[in-house]
Amino acid sequence: MPEFSRQVLDSLRQPLETGEIVVARAAAHVRYPSRFQLVAAMNPCRCGYLGDPERACTRAPRCGADYQSRISGPLYDRIDLTIEVPSVSAQDLTLPAPREGTAEVAARVAGARARQSAREGETGARTNAELEGERLDAVATPDGPGRALLVEAADRMKLSARAYTRVLKVARTVADLEDSAEVRRAHIAEALAFRRPAALN
Ligand SMILES: [Zn+2]
Repeated sequence: MPEFSRQVLDSLRQPLETGEIVVARAAAHVRYPSRFQLVAAMNPCRCGYLGDPERACTRAPRCGADYQSRISGPLYDRIDLTIEVPSVSAQDLTLPAPREGTAEVAARVAGARARQSAREGETGARTNAELEGERLDAVATPDGPGRALLVEAADRMKLSARAYTRVLKVARTVADLEDSAEVRRAHIAEALAFRRPAALN
């Protein structure tokens, strides 16, 4: 991801937020539908070895800080799920496949999506990501312990208002994956674990 220019990366902000691209020229102002799912990957640093126990990055920590800072805070803010993937050794490849296979995971996802559309009906949001305002509050307000954790984390992780709302939507989805009508503390905790701390931006 950081190999793209900052201008290109930041141009993703508007469609990620609104699902539309607005092209404004002197004579015309055109809106194009642009709803998409962004899936992106990056190395931890330019050389790719930052944090690798086998092959140390010789320019740490600058190498990683320079590289990762090419992605702006506002763009990170619009990315709901981030995970760090450690390098895979040849030995890891000989391990047995995980117990839950792709087909089982796909079935769980389909179940969660069916629950979302049943809850919202024909005219409502298609996914939790599209929930807004009062409707989001109505279906994603966590229980007491969940709310306490979210308020504490928002302060500690310096979450923006946008990030706060996005955590709620992810937590609603985590709850749907478990077929839980309520958003509980564990769901909030899992949603928060996917958010990149603002301190790294
Ligand atoms: Zn490096």
